[in-house]
Amino acid sequence: MAKVIHCCKVNPSSTCDHVIRGATEEEVLEGARKHAREHGLEPTPELLEMVKGFIEDE
Ligand SMILES: [Zn+2]
Repeated sequence: MAKVIHCCKVNPSSTCDHVIRGATEEEVLEGARKHAREHGLEPTPELLEMVKGFIEDE
């Protein structure tokens, strides 16, 4: 089952409707790392740990 992260759930104050998809948890986290940079955020281990909690099955 594919994994997804809804950007707007991770950061409710953001109006971003980006959905990060990946075949595995590793893949979706890699996508989140890149997407964090698009928001000007440094994808620290702490940030990614927090983002992990928002991974959903598609
Ligand atoms: Zn976003």
